[in-house]
Amino acid sequence: MAENDEQKKAPEAGQVETQPEQPRVWKCGRCKCDLVTKKVELDYMGYSISHELPACPKCGKVYISKELAEGRMCEVEQTLEDK
Ligand SMILES: [Zn+2]
Repeated sequence: MAENDEQKKAPEAGQVETQPEQPRVWKCGRCKCDLVTKKVELDYMGYSISHELPACPKCGKVYISKELAEGRMCEVEQTLEDK
């Protein structure tokens, strides 16, 4: 049994090594380019908000996850109420 465990741990020849430390890379749906994090100005209810978002360097499309958008919008609404 011990010998089998050791064989499993050893990397097989020809196997592609994965990079566990690499963060999840977003790709553009259109050009298949890797997205780069970029400071983008969003427009919400007449207010401009700058936020770091993944954007395509080729076509300029900005990707906003639903969670991020909703979270950010809540933050803005609270800021408006304070004024
Ligand atoms: Zn693109």
